Amino acid sequence: MENFLIINAGSSSVKLSVFNSSNKSLSRVINARAVRLFNDDAQISIYDHNKKLLIEKNLAELAVEPPNHKVAIEFFLGWLSQQADINLVAIGHRVVHGGPKYAKPVKINETVHGELLSFQPLAPLHQQHNLAPVETIKSIYPDLLQVACFDTAFHQSMPVMAKRFALPEKYYNEGVRRYGFHGLSYEYIVNSLDAYKDIKNKKIVIAHLGNGASMCAVHDKKSVATTMSFTPLDGLVMGTRCGDLDPGVVLHLMNHYSMSAKDISALLYKNSGLIGLSEETNNMRKLLDSDQPSSQLAVDMFCYQVNRHLGALVAQLGGIDQLVFTAGIGENSPIIREKICRLANWLNLSLDMQANKDNRTMINNQESPVDIFVIPTNEALMIAQHTMQIYENS
Ligand code: ADP
Repeated sequence: MENFLIINAGSSSVKLSVFNSSNKSLSRVINARAVRLFNDDAQISIYDHNKKLLIEKNLAELAVEPPNHKVAIEFFLGWLSQQADINLVAIGHRVVHGGPKYAKPVKINETVHGELLSFQPLAPLHQQHNLAPVETIKSIYPDLLQVACFDTAFHQSMPVMAKRFALPEKYYNEGVRRYGFHGLSYEYIVNSLDAYKDIKNKKIVIAHLGNGASMCAVHDKKSVATTMSFTPLDGLVMGTRCGDLDPGVVLHLMNHYSMSAKDISALLYKNSGLIGLSEETNNMRKLLDSDQPSSQLAVDMFCYQVNRHLGALVAQLGGIDQLVFTAGIGENSPIIREKICRLANWLNLSLDMQANKDNRTMINNQESPVDIFVIPTNEALMIAQHTMQIYENS
C-alpha cells in the first residue's frame, strides 16, 4: 500500500488528507484540520475515513513560539509515523499561484521552490502560507517527493483575449494578467462530468459557489474564461470579498479617505461581499435564515452577480449545454440554485424542483435545453491524483 499526503495550508489553518492508493484508485483514509494557528487556542483534530475523531490536540501546548504551520505539520507527521499501516511516498501541496509559467503540477525542487516563492507578490495572502509546509517536510523527510498543484493552472488554456487586461503589453509581460483561480475544483468537475457523460465539444459553465466564489466557461474540457482574474477578489460577490469593482473606487479610497494599501486590502478581502452588504455574516446559510433586509439584499446581490457573469460566460462560449453547481453553497442550497435559475430564465432553463430540493446530481427537467448538474467538488482528490501521477512517472 502507498499513501499520499495532501496539504492545503491557508493563512490560519491547514487541511491535511491522507489517501491510500490501490490499483491506481485513491481513497481518503485520514483527514485532519489545524485551526486558529498563531493563537493560544490553536488546535488540530484528526479523523478517520468515517469522520470519527481519532485525536484532538491544543497546539499551543507544544510550542514555545505561537503555534504556526510548522508546529501543526510536525505534530501530524509525528502522529502519522506511529500509525502501523501508513507508507508515505509523496506529498501534494495546493498552491494558489503558478504564475504565468506553470500550466500543470510540478515536482518541487530548489529551483521550483524559489520560483514559486517569487510569485508571492501575486498572491500575498495565500502563497507564503501554501508553501510554508514545504520546508518543514523537507527538514523531516529530505528525500520525499513533494508536488505543487496550482489553482491557476487549469486556466492557462484561456485565449489571450481572456488573459489580457486592456493595459500596455509591458504589464502583461511582467505578469499583470487575468489568471483565474479554483482551477483544481474546475478540473475535478470536468473529469467527473466526463466520466458521467461525453462532454467532448460541449459548452459548460461551472459555478463554484463557496465562501470564495467564481465561475468558469469550459469548452471541449478546457477553460476559456473565468470570473476571477489577477487576484481572487474579482468577479462574483463572495463571503468577505467584494467581487467586481471599478478600479476608480480604489483610487477614491486612497485619495478621498486617505486609506493605505493595507486598509484597502482589509476592506476588499475581509469586510466586503456578503458580510459587507449584510453587516451580519458571511455565512450563506445564516443569511438565508435571516429576516433582515440587508441580509436579503446580500443574498439577492450574490444571485444577481452570478446571473450577470453567466451571461458574459455564455456569450464567450457562444451558447451553453450544461450548467454545474458546486462548492458549499452550490452543492447544498436548493434555494440559491432556484433563485439563480429563475434569474437565468433567459436561457429557458427548466429546473426539476424535487430533484433540486433533494440535491440530486441532475436537477433539470427533461424539456430543459440546458442540463443542470450538482456535483460535489473534491480538490484534495484532484491533487492526490496529480501527485500519484508524478510519483509513478518519477
Ligand atoms: P470555502 O471552501 O470557500 O471556505 P465552502 O465551499 O465550504 O467555502 O462554502 C461555505 C459556504 O457554503 C458558507 O457560506 C455556507 O453557509 C454555505 N453553505 C453550506 N451549506 C449550506 C446550505 N445548506 N445552504 C446554504 N448555504 C450553505
